[in-house]
Amino acid sequence: MRNRLKFIFITATFAAVSIIFSQFYWVYNNYAVTRSGYIRTAGYALQKSIENYQLTQNKLPTSLNYKAPTLTVFMRTIPDQDPIALDTPDTKRRFHAEFMTVAIDSGNLDLVRGLIARLQSQQKHNSVNIDSLSGIFHKTLSENGITDTFRLTVTPGKAVIPADEIAAVVSFYKTPVVVHAALSHPTAVLIRDNIIPAAISCLLILLSAGSLFYMWKTIQNQMKLNNMKNDFINNVTHELLTPVSILKTSNEAMISFGAADNPESLRRYLQTNVAVLDTMSANIERILDISRSESGMLLPVYREINLPGLIHSLTERLAVTTAAHIQLTNNLPVSFVVTDAFMVERIVENLLDNSIKYGGSSVEISVSSEQQNWLLAVADNGKGIPAHSLPFIFDKFYRVETGDLHEVKGYGLGLAYVKQLVTVLGGTITVKSHPGEFTVFTITIPYHE
Ligand code: ADP
Repeated sequence: MRNRLKFIFITATFAAVSIIFSQFYWVYNNYAVTRSGYIRTAGYALQKSIENYQLTQNKLPTSLNYKAPTLTVFMRTIPDQDPIALDTPDTKRRFHAEFMTVAIDSGNLDLVRGLIARLQSQQKHNSVNIDSLSGIFHKTLSENGITDTFRLTVTPGKAVIPADEIAAVVSFYKTPVVVHAALSHPTAVLIRDNIIPAAISCLLILLSAGSLFYMWKTIQNQMKLNNMKNDFINNVTHELLTPVSILKTSNEAMISFGAADNPESLRRYLQTNVAVLDTMSANIERILDISRSESGMLLPVYREINLPGLIHSLTERLAVTTAAHIQLTNNLPVSFVVTDAFMVERIVENLLDNSIKYGGSSVEISVSSEQQNWLLAVADNGKGIPAHSLPFIFDKFYRVETGDLHEVKGYGLGLAYVKQLVTVLGGTITVKSHPGEFTVFTITIPYHE
């Protein structure tokens, strides 16, 4: 069983760790793909902006703006011919100039414009006007769905542009330059573009880790329950066998050894049997009450009772069967309290029983009042409860571990029963203990009208 659980747990851990790693990889991959796409789009926009900027810097032939764009190109000069003859200032010679007008396919218009602009620009030595290039660049970016702001810088030379940089070469000047674009708020863009996948991923990681943790807790609980169930079966068997064998022995004594003929012996045996049967029926009642209260069938029957009186008569009864010193302190302003007498009796009885069972030689019970509640505290100087067991002592079947041997008998149901009764009465129960020194159970129950 343990090995199987170990195997399941290792497999689940491996699966969860793989999910966590694949999530990290997915987020990183998503980041890398988004980033390279972003750089590509922005780089393309920068390139296009530089071309547009170039066009704005040069005066292009107006014939390119016609519906059917044309370009008139100079072909050659032929001296002394008419009719189109021109003077030149140097020679004053007449010559004929031959031009040719070519139609430009509108599909190639941009290429032709760019070519002419480049030719014109190469003649100039103007430096790039960053402000107007920035304006064009931001417009082109927004046409491509990017609204972030960039800072442009120009560096001389025809450098090779690394893949992770947004830059473009301006080659239409005599001395080429490189325009670099840097995001004004790179962190904000990084967060914005990756926040959703990262959040989804975090959620999945949390879910996987949470499920693993939950599974581990469930397995632990199951194992604990399994151990408690085995303990319970052992205890119940033991607790039933002991009274049954006492009853059997006394019956045999009455039948076989003539005890029935002696009224004094008969009375003694019957008295023993009644006590044994009372204990058995109280234990059975306790188990039944717990399941009744779990199904909401255990309801309090309120009556006005003399609370100190009730506890006093209970301690009197118990005092005869124990050597422990039991003391009752009454600090209640009024003696009569409206509550369920049967439930209060069971609560006190169980707590007292535990105090004596677990080594208390001196037990102090006190009743007092605090605001809208009445308080009942049971303190003893017994062996105490280790701190690590305190959170579990009100759980059903839980018994403080004492190795394989339980020197004190019990089902691990007493405190669970007490807690259920206190809850039914609308109250709370707390415990404080110092092993080897003391244990105090305090019950707080609101006054019932
Ligand atoms: P049981 O007494 O049948 O084992 P309970 O539910 O009454 O079951 O108590 C649960 C555990 O709490 C006990 O096993 C015992 O170790 C511890 N316990 C309860 N009351 C006391 C006490 N007064 N002093 C020391 N240990 C106690």
